[in-house]
Amino acid sequence: MRLLAVLTGQPDQALNPAHGLEGPRHLAYIDEDWCIGCTLCIEACPVDAIIGTHKRMHTVIENLCTGCELCLPVCPVDCIEWENVSGHRTAWAAWTAEQASMASDRYAARQARLSLVQQPAEENMPSAKISRVEQALARAKAKAAEKQAPKG
Ligand code: SF4
Ligand code: SF4
Repeated sequence: MRLLAVLTGQPDQALNPAHGLEGPRHLAYIDEDWCIGCTLCIEACPVDAIIGTHKRMHTVIENLCTGCELCLPVCPVDCIEWENVSGHRTAWAAWTAEQASMASDRYAARQARLSLVQQPAEENMPSAKISRVEQALARAKAKAAEKQAPKG
């Protein structure tokens, strides 16, 4: 809360319990015997900490999971479990600045990837590739024009 106050220039305040309680760090685990491979948890995870594919077993990459809980409610078969991995330690005693920085980077990378996927295919193409496609089209047009031109 102090860091947030510094970052936002707002007064230092205690955490409002309506927004959650400080507690130990938890990680998500998938019970692979029950996973139906629906991929909903992958879509929900903001840091790409879950791997798996359609109709195949999924798993959480432990060192990437932030314990944000966003995957828990989306699982239709309730096969994501929740485990305390820091005992009584909470906040910065349970989570390092390096881990926070890595999570932030992974979140930004995911957002960037998703924004590319949502763009039309042409925008998605690197400019060098577009240029090569344009050149090939120009060559094809020139050849077609050559064929149609009267001979002699
Ligand atoms: S708890 Fe959060 S970070 Fe961990 S796997 Fe689930 S959605 Fe991803
Ligand atoms: S949401 Fe649940 S059932 Fe679907 S892929 Fe994830 S863990 Fe498996």
